[in-house]
Amino acid sequence: MPPVRWRAGTYSGPVTYDRRLVDGFGRVATDLRVSLTDRCNLRCTYCMPAEGLEWLPDERLLSNDEVVRLVAVAVNHLGVEEVRFTGGEPLVRRGLVDIVRRCAELRPRPDLSLTTNGMGLSRLAESLATAGLDRVNVSLDTVREDTFLALTRRDRLHDVVAGLAAADTAGIRPVKVNAVLMRGVNDDQAPELLRWCLKRGYELRFIEQMPLDAQHGWRRDTMVTAAEIFASLETEFELEPAEEPRGSAPAELFDVDGGAGTVGVIASVTRPFCGDCDRVRLTADGQVRNCLFAREESDLRLALRAGASDVEIADRWRAAVVTKRAGHGIDDVSFLQPARPMSAIGG
Ligand code: SAM
Ligand code: SF4
Repeated sequence: MPPVRWRAGTYSGPVTYDRRLVDGFGRVATDLRVSLTDRCNLRCTYCMPAEGLEWLPDERLLSNDEVVRLVAVAVNHLGVEEVRFTGGEPLVRRGLVDIVRRCAELRPRPDLSLTTNGMGLSRLAESLATAGLDRVNVSLDTVREDTFLALTRRDRLHDVVAGLAAADTAGIRPVKVNAVLMRGVNDDQAPELLRWCLKRGYELRFIEQMPLDAQHGWRRDTMVTAAEIFASLETEFELEPAEEPRGSAPAELFDVDGGAGTVGVIASVTRPFCGDCDRVRLTADGQVRNCLFAREESDLRLALRAGASDVEIADRWRAAVVTKRAGHGIDDVSFLQPARPMSAIGG
C-alpha cells in the first residue's frame, strides 16, 4: 500500500500509514539539520560570550560512524531529503569531508549542504565539492574589517572572503551569504553588504536576530526587524517579490533592481513561518530536537549505543517529532528561551 501523504492542515483523523516524520499538525520534516560540533573559532556577539562556552566532552559527541548511521536512518526509514551540516563551526570537525562523502553515497541521495562561518573553507572547498557537497551558506555580517572584529571578536574577515571565493571556484553554487544585523553595530550596512554580494554573484539572506545566544542578551525592543531591513535596502535598491514560490523555505525572496540578483529576509521573529516548517534537528551529542526553540530533546545516542536497531531508532525519532509544537512562540509572554544556545543546537 503506498503511503498516505498528509498535507499541512488536512489532517482530520488517526494516522493511517505514513512512515515519515509527521507531527501532530500534519507537517512533514524532510529537512534534517545535523550539528557536528558545538565548538567554534569565532565568538559572534549574538551567539556566544567572548570566553566561549563549556564544550561537550568528546565521549558525548557522536562519532563519524554514528553521524552517518543516523543520517542513513533518516534518509532510508524516515523520508528525509535534505541534510545540512552545521554547528558550532562544522569546518572544525575532523572527518567532515568523510561524513559528506559517505552521506552522498546514500540512496536515495540526499541534498547535502553546509552552514559555516567560512574560516578554513578556502582549504576545504575543493575536497568538499568532490565529496558531494551541493550547497553552502557562509555567514558574513559585514565587509568592514573593524565591524567584523567587533561582531566576531576575531580579525579574520580576509579568511571568510577567501572561503567564499573558494566555494564559488569549487562550483558549490549558488553561494549563499547569511547576515545578522545588530543595532548600532552593522544595522547601517545592509545596502553595502548587498552591493558586495551582487558584484560577486552571491545570494544574500538577512536573518532576524533570535533569542538563542548563550548570554541571553536578546531583546525584542532592540532587535533589528525585517521591516527595518527592507526600509534600509530600499534606500538604494528596488525590491520586487520574487516569483519563485516560497514553499517551506524560511526566506522571503526579492528580485533586486529588475534582475541584478536576489536578496532574502528570514523574519523568524516578526513573521514566523512555523506553519510551513519542514525541519528537524540532530545535535552533536545525538539528541533530536523538533525546533530550535524546543525545550525537549529525545536521546538517540543512548539508543544507538545501547544497540537499538535502525527500525527502533526510526520509531523513537518519529515519536519525538509527533510532539512538535505549532510555533516557537517568541512573541508570547510565556516564551522561555531554550537552555541550549544556538551553537549547541545547530543553527
Ligand atoms: N558557525 C556556523 C555559522 O556561523 O554559519 C554555523 C552555526 S551558526 C549557529 C548558524 C547561523 O546561525 C549563522 O548564520 C549565524 O549567523 C546564525 N545565528 C547565530 N546566532 C543567531 C541568533 N541569535 N539569531 C539569529 N541568527 C543567529
Ligand atoms: Fe561561531 Fe557560527 Fe556562533 Fe558565530 S554564529 S560564534 S561562527 S557558531
